[in-house]
Amino acid sequence: MIDSVVSISEQAFFSIVTSALEAYKLEHVLTNGDSAAEVETFGHLWGYCQRTIGTQMMYRVVLADTSTAVERDQNSVIYTDEAQDLKQGFIDTFFPEVCYLGDYHSHPYSHENDEIKTELELERGHYYRFSDADFRSVKALQDNALDYRVGLVATVFERERKVKRTLKKLDGESCIRFQYLNMTIWLKAYVWTSDENMNYRRKADKMVRLVCPSLNLLAE
Ligand SMILES: [Zn+2]
Repeated sequence: MIDSVVSISEQAFFSIVTSALEAYKLEHVLTNGDSAAEVETFGHLWGYCQRTIGTQMMYRVVLADTSTAVERDQNSVIYTDEAQDLKQGFIDTFFPEVCYLGDYHSHPYSHENDEIKTELELERGHYYRFSDADFRSVKALQDNALDYRVGLVATVFERERKVKRTLKKLDGESCIRFQYLNMTIWLKAYVWTSDENMNYRRKADKMVRLVCPSLNLLAE
């Protein structure tokens, strides 16, 4: 039964997806000095959570930023706590009504670099989900006293020739797949709750619904 709803504002949807697309399509300077496209992006999520009438928790992602001080290589993005700290101060000054909810990053995949030929293959390999390393970094942030409750991952896969796929939900309702130009994009949400001792537990996929009103125009 779904008891956690993650709702993405238009601004957050725009920031998350355009920054994932830029990291996918344009060349970025890597830590080793090389340049490459198909890199990962990273940013923070800001908003609030509230219990609705009934028992559902509503996590509203109001704002998403893009972290520019990251170290990238082709398979990872490394960030520091300082970026969260810096933006926390800005939020507290100008947007005190929202709080830190968590973060997002992207997963770039292609046939050339990853030997993945189809959307189906990507889904079977679960590449649109958090990796073990992603879960470890969430735990590290929570252990570090950051109140991390919502994580998002945007996976981008491009084909030379588009194969049209319908807008679809995966993993219960915790992931939405849609298309833009020749790219297929998966947006997947994770939710953690904490008890009074700040022990965090992740909600099972089937308890989480991702809602993204901006995508309604694609629904058939
Ligand atoms: Zn990841």
